[in-house]
Amino acid sequence: MGKKRQREMIKPVRDGLAALGIAPEKINIVIVSHLHYDHCGNYELFPQAHYHLQDREMAYATGRCMCHQALRAPFEVEDVVAMVRKVFSGRVAFHDGEAEIVPGVTVHRIGGHSKGLQSVRVKTRLGYVVLAADATHLYAHIDGGRIFPLTYNLEEVVEGYATLKKLASAPRHVVPGHDPAVLTRYPAAKPGLEGWIVRLDAEPKQA
Ligand SMILES: [Zn+2]
Ligand SMILES: [Zn+2]
Repeated sequence: MGKKRQREMIKPVRDGLAALGIAPEKINIVIVSHLHYDHCGNYELFPQAHYHLQDREMAYATGRCMCHQALRAPFEVEDVVAMVRKVFSGRVAFHDGEAEIVPGVTVHRIGGHSKGLQSVRVKTRLGYVVLAADATHLYAHIDGGRIFPLTYNLEEVVEGYATLKKLASAPRHVVPGHDPAVLTRYPAAKPGLEGWIVRLDAEPKQA
């Protein structure tokens, strides 16, 4: 998919898990923030996993909105089909709004960038950390109230910024989905993983 979209894949998810000593076949929960091509590949990487997704995201990605090029551009049919297959094999858990996945981990529908986009809140030793995914691509989006051009609903984007801040114990604990600064603000998970895998339950350096 990276090649098709002229994006170079440098660090595949499988390699990242291996670097942490995590066997993908032992993972039993995968939270899918939304179904854009850069957030839902690796169809067969987690053979045991149940996938957690918002109702609205699946309805959006399989319904009338996909008749329009402007709306379907960030989706890939094979990604969506792969998720439909998982529905039919009983491996998708649907949520509508807020839900607890395991104690201390909740999902929250934000919408905005994609109709059923959900962010994830995790209780850590430092309080609540929020994995925004594309609810804010960069720190500059949430900090400056700026809008990423690819947007389904503008109101939900800006309301979403407020929700993310409310969900996190402090604004600095909102982690954007695409900001390279995440890799410098947080410490490496282990020596040797600098610039690749970081601990989001640590205190981030302030910009
Ligand atoms: Zn996206
Ligand atoms: Zn994205």
